[in-house]
Amino acid sequence: MNSTTRSQATFVTVVLLLILYAFPTNAQTVALQAGYVFDTESGAMLPDQIILIDDGRITAVGPQVVIPDHATVIDLKDSWVVPGLIDAHTHMLLTRQPARDYGNYYFTTLLETTSYRSVVGVANAQAMLEAGFTAIRDLGNTGNYGDMDLKRAIDEGWVPGPMMQAAGRIIAPYGGQFTLQAERRDLAEPEYFFADTEEQIRMAVRENIHFGADVVKLVVDDQRYDYTQAEIRAAVEEAAKAGVPISAHAYTDKPATDAILAGVASLEHATYLSDHVLQLMKERNVYLVGTDFPQKYSPSSYDARIDRLRRAYAIGTPIAFGTDASHYREGFTRGDLTFDFMHSFVDAGIPPVDILRMMTVNAARLMDIDQDRGTIETGKLADIVAVSANPLDDIEALRGAHFVMKEGRIFKQGGRFHWSAPTVIGE
Ligand SMILES: [Zn+2]
Repeated sequence: MNSTTRSQATFVTVVLLLILYAFPTNAQTVALQAGYVFDTESGAMLPDQIILIDDGRITAVGPQVVIPDHATVIDLKDSWVVPGLIDAHTHMLLTRQPARDYGNYYFTTLLETTSYRSVVGVANAQAMLEAGFTAIRDLGNTGNYGDMDLKRAIDEGWVPGPMMQAAGRIIAPYGGQFTLQAERRDLAEPEYFFADTEEQIRMAVRENIHFGADVVKLVVDDQRYDYTQAEIRAAVEEAAKAGVPISAHAYTDKPATDAILAGVASLEHATYLSDHVLQLMKERNVYLVGTDFPQKYSPSSYDARIDRLRRAYAIGTPIAFGTDASHYREGFTRGDLTFDFMHSFVDAGIPPVDILRMMTVNAARLMDIDQDRGTIETGKLADIVAVSANPLDDIEALRGAHFVMKEGRIFKQGGRFHWSAPTVIGE
C-alpha cells in the first residue's frame, strides 16, 4: 500500500467506526409500555399507552402504537407516567447550613468559595435529576457565575443533572439582599451585582448575558430603595435585545405592580399581593413563582402565603412551581426537600392535577421551553418520569420516581440511578 492508499483506507475505517459507534446512541428507538400516561390537556390519566422514542424525542404516543422490532422495550405497565418535573426557582449553588448560619445565607458567601459551591451544586443537581426533575431555573446566589459552569458541565455530559436555565449574578440596588458592614462592603460581591442607575442596570444586564444568562434576576424590593418602574423597564428592554426574560423578586403590591407594568416574565415570592395585582398578572401573563415554604420550615408568613396562593389560583393567575429550596437538612437530598414544597399547594386547596401542571407545563411555558418540554406529546423531548401510584389521587406519589428519562436518556430505572462519566481517550 502506498501512503495515499493507506490514508484513504484509514479514512474509510474511521468513517465506518464513526457510523458504527454513532448509530446505536443517536438512532436508538425505545418503547415505554406505560400503565397510565398523564395527558396534560385533559388532565386525565390515559390507560395502556405506548410511548415511542427515537433519538431523544417522542415520535408516537397512544394505545395502538406499533413497536418496531429493533426497539428497546421498557415495561412500565405498573406505573403512572408523567412529564419530567420542573422547579422554576431554585439555587443549586446555595446550601445554607442552618446550624452554622442561623438561617442566614450571608455565611455561604463569607465562608465558601465558588469552586466548593460548584461541587455541592453537582451533588444537588444529581439529587434533583434522581428525584425526577429534568429541568430547573436557577436564580442566582452562585458566587462568581458558578451556575454557568455547572450548566456547561451538565450539557457536556461531565455530570448528571437537569436541563438548567441560569441567572448568573443577581442584579440589585446597592446592598443587594445584604445588610452590609461599612468596613467590609465587598462581602456582598460578586454574589450580587449592584446597579443603581438605568445605565448601570443596562451594563449589569449585558454582563450577565455575556457570561451566559438565560434569565436575569432583579431584586426589586429588598432595600429601603426599590427599583422604579423606569429602572425595571431599562432591564427588561436591555435583556429583550438578547431574547432574555426578567424575573423580579418582589413582595408587595407597589414594587410588584411596577415590575408587571415594566414587562417582567415572573414575580418571585410575591407574598403580600392583593387580588388587584394578581388580576393584573393574569392580564399580562406574568407568572407567580411563590416559593411557598411549607409551614414546618417557615411558619411566620405561612398563612399569608397560602392565602395568596389560594386567591391567585381562584383568579387564574399563571402559577409555576418554584421552591427556593436551599437549606441543608440532615438525611434529605435537595430532591426530597423540593417535594416538601408541594404541601403548600395542597394546603391552599389546589387539586393534584393542577399542582402537576404547575410542576410541568406551566413552568415550561414560563421558561419558554414548552415547545420541547413539559408534556408527553409527539415531537417533544423525552423528559419522562414514572411513579408507582397515581399522583392525581395524592400528589405525594411524585416522590417515588423509579424511572427517570431526560432527553431520551435513561438516568434511573428500577429505582436505581445510572450514570457514567464520559470516556476520555488520551494519547
Ligand atoms: Zn431564591
